[in-house]
Amino acid sequence: MLFSYQQITLDTFHTSWLPEGLEAALLRLDQLHPAISGNKWFKLKYNLAAAKAAGATRIVTFGGAYSNHIAATAVACKMAGFAATGIIRGEQPAIPGHTLQQAAAHGMELVFVSREDYKNKYDPSQWYYHQADTLVIPEGGHNAAGAQGCEEILTIHPTAGYTHILCAAGTGTTLAGLINQAAPSQQVIGIPVLKGAQFLEKDISDLLRPDHTAQWRLLYDHHGGGYAKISPGLIDFINTFYQETGIPTDIIYTGKLLLAFRELVQQGYFPDNSRVLLIHTGGLQGNLSLAPGTLAF
Ligand SMILES: *Cc1c(COP(=O)(O)O)cnc(C)c1O
Repeated sequence: MLFSYQQITLDTFHTSWLPEGLEAALLRLDQLHPAISGNKWFKLKYNLAAAKAAGATRIVTFGGAYSNHIAATAVACKMAGFAATGIIRGEQPAIPGHTLQQAAAHGMELVFVSREDYKNKYDPSQWYYHQADTLVIPEGGHNAAGAQGCEEILTIHPTAGYTHILCAAGTGTTLAGLINQAAPSQQVIGIPVLKGAQFLEKDISDLLRPDHTAQWRLLYDHHGGGYAKISPGLIDFINTFYQETGIPTDIIYTGKLLLAFRELVQQGYFPDNSRVLLIHTGGLQGNLSLAPGTLAF
């Protein structure tokens, strides 16, 4: 539905800090579509299919004012012919940022709720659970249908020969799909971008198939100060990585993933002859919140 995956390339890359005998490649989900960026489409795919099958005509979902999931859902719903409502955490900003502007421009109805009310978004008494024409998708696409779509990420190119699979984690939905699809010989490593994200252990386990075979773990020390905390070192790293490889990354997720990878390489984490697959989950639209000229691309 909607996309073929031909644009997505698997790019082996070289940098000054990668040792001989360690292969590294990026699976470029960022190339799928400029607005339905990377992993967000995979999380939406089976949710939208379920909505179609149920005869729903409206999608309701949730997120903050900078949510890539909100932006992607707005665009995907427009393309797939659904009406869309975004329940947005916090008061309506005087000047909406790029994400909300884009969502509204694609016809998403934005409903701003206080942080307090946002906590009750899954309360069964909420109006959107009582509309026959409406399908509700959880924040970040975190449900079984979301994880199911993410299993397909590993089938776009042959990936069974990689020893390690690395991916940034927000809700962990993407990681759950990767774990469900990975081979027994593969180790799947999640890099949480939130500080204190130990809750992910359970949130991910909830989405795993009982018969999954891959080993997996979360490495918690690479959030770089917490969600959306941007240090000069991170900006520097993103720019240098781009200069060395020609591959753009984002400040919230994939830049921190690559920086985590460099730190692990420097700690000797990967045995000789490891082949590491990194998932480029997209998110480049988030870079628009930076002052122009901050990044080299
Ligand atoms: C949303 C997002 C993630 C996090 O995905 P989860 O499935 O919630 O863990 C990772 N990378 C990018 C670029 C994202 O936009």
